[in-house]
Amino acid sequence: MKNEKAIVVFSGGQDSTTCLFWALKQFKEVEAVTFNYNQRHKLEIDVAESIAKDLGVKHHLLDMALLNQLAPNALTRDDIEIEQKDGELPTTFVPGRNLLFLTFASILAKQVGARHVITGVCETDFSGYPDCRDVFVKSCNVTLNLAMDDQFVLHTPLMWLNKAETWQLADELGALEYVRNETLTCYNGIIAEGCGDCPACELRNKGLHQYLESKEVGA
Ligand SMILES: [Zn+2]
Repeated sequence: MKNEKAIVVFSGGQDSTTCLFWALKQFKEVEAVTFNYNQRHKLEIDVAESIAKDLGVKHHLLDMALLNQLAPNALTRDDIEIEQKDGELPTTFVPGRNLLFLTFASILAKQVGARHVITGVCETDFSGYPDCRDVFVKSCNVTLNLAMDDQFVLHTPLMWLNKAETWQLADELGALEYVRNETLTCYNGIIAEGCGDCPACELRNKGLHQYLESKEVGA
């Protein structure tokens, strides 16, 4: 894979930034694609742009505003609160979002001559998003290859990792401090450690503390 080109689906968050570092180790040439769907925080786009620039990666920004038109939800609309009731999908859910992202990323990959598409989706911290599941990604891979008569390979380096293990991967890639300080995961639009209160911050910070503790014990 060293001689091949890859596209990373990239949001500027912890997971996709870790994937970007991973891809830079695996492939000769890497580009990143960010989808603009009127995210609650425009800062997300700025953060993605600035990380791509830091890492010397060509950055594509694709307009997906129609997603908001189709599925108004807590990530795109200020008037919807982020919450998750027991047994229900969180209000951040946009049905079919990864299906769309992987499809558009693969069309872009075809245009730029990339065979590999990397996404940071993960089944371990599964919040009920059906299109984050491994079985979906595999099925999508087959469909994309049939749709475009091509041999794309979808990669999901985080699929079976929990948040602590994702931090470990960043550390192994020499990117722990970078991912810790430069990425944006917080639903309230606060970079690095974030607000500390929203579900995204809770997951991220809990995983980080778990990883740092296990590292100390192991050292
Ligand atoms: Zn937060």
